[in-house]
Amino acid sequence: MFNGRYGFDKLSGLLVIIFLILSIGTNVSRNVLWLYIVFLALQTAVIAILIYRFFSKDINARKIENGRFEAFLYKVRSSVLNVKKNMEDRKTHKVFKCNKCGQKLRVPRGKGKIVITCKKCGNKFEKTT
Ligand SMILES: [Zn+2]
Repeated sequence: MFNGRYGFDKLSGLLVIIFLILSIGTNVSRNVLWLYIVFLALQTAVIAILIYRFFSKDINARKIENGRFEAFLYKVRSSVLNVKKNMEDRKTHKVFKCNKCGQKLRVPRGKGKIVITCKKCGNKFEKTT
């Protein structure tokens, strides 16, 4: 029965999580009919996509979908890591903008008043770190 079928992947995993979140929404919204219907419809749509993908014979198309999803996931993950790294960096370094060319210059903190030389245009300016 599962021969030649696509099966389960990371994107399916996310759909399962979305389905579970939606089922919480469906439970909570039982007293508000329109909201209940919206949650139920979304839940039905998600489970339909899940089943469709699982039994799909067009394995290439499903692989492309999952590949796009994983690329997106990678982008999100690396940008979160970047923000974290920047926040940690702010404790030890300060970033100034060259007032001539706008180049960003990173210097260590706690060095008092220093002369910063722009590495792009050679402009010199004094700043307190
Ligand atoms: Zn400059």
